[in-house]
Amino acid sequence: MTIIDTHTHLYDLPDLAGSLREAADAGVTDVVALGVDLASNQKHIEMCQSAPGRVRIHPALGLHPGNITTREDTAACLQFIRENISQAVAIGEAGLDFWYKWVRKDDVKKQEQREAFQGQLDLAAQFGLPVVIHARGSWRECLEMAKASGIARADFHWYSGPVDVLRDILDAGYVISVSPALEYSADSRRAAEFAPLDRLLVETDTPVMVSLPDGTRVASGPKDVWRTFRALCSVKKLDEPEALQALNANARAFFNIPVL
Ligand SMILES: [Zn+2]
Repeated sequence: MTIIDTHTHLYDLPDLAGSLREAADAGVTDVVALGVDLASNQKHIEMCQSAPGRVRIHPALGLHPGNITTREDTAACLQFIRENISQAVAIGEAGLDFWYKWVRKDDVKKQEQREAFQGQLDLAAQFGLPVVIHARGSWRECLEMAKASGIARADFHWYSGPVDVLRDILDAGYVISVSPALEYSADSRRAAEFAPLDRLLVETDTPVMVSLPDGTRVASGPKDVWRTFRALCSVKKLDEPEALQALNANARAFFNIPVL
């Protein structure tokens, strides 16, 4: 049994080698590693250029709405993405998040997020890449921007938004990814129930914190994609072998990851 983790932030893992070893032992064959700023994009490119391990690392290049600083930094990051785009399986993590305290009442900051997101959507459209979208609290606006930019493939990551927007996401031909939040979040479960299996991806958002059975909180690793998978099967009452095959096929098709 093998599986793909479609959303990780490997640059942020305290013990990268250990996490990848555990992932390989657990049957994780591929991970998509998403950058959030210039430094993390650079790190992921270096990781996948160094000696290949048992887990294949596929970089997605992006500028996260929570990592926007100055217009100059945004321009430098977009420039790096453009120069290295041949190495990327996707653009992301990109999007909008107006829930951050420092953004909520600041129209200039909101506009900076929109410009950075638009710049990434334009790159995705120009190079025919999928986009992985962080759309917390701005699901509708992110959807409208992706559609208006002619994006063919978009993943609304860790989707926990309203069902009416989800319906329109699916109508646009897009997908959502579900996370370990399926274990505790009613919003995540509702989205997973609503979306058909052929529009779902599984992810960890590693190293997001997860709970152990005794309640201790630990940093997740790509091996924890099995937790997401099992929670999804339980929410949707799926046959595990069949669901696994479908989810792996979805991930390979979305990110254009070949079977080795
Ligand atoms: Zn993420």
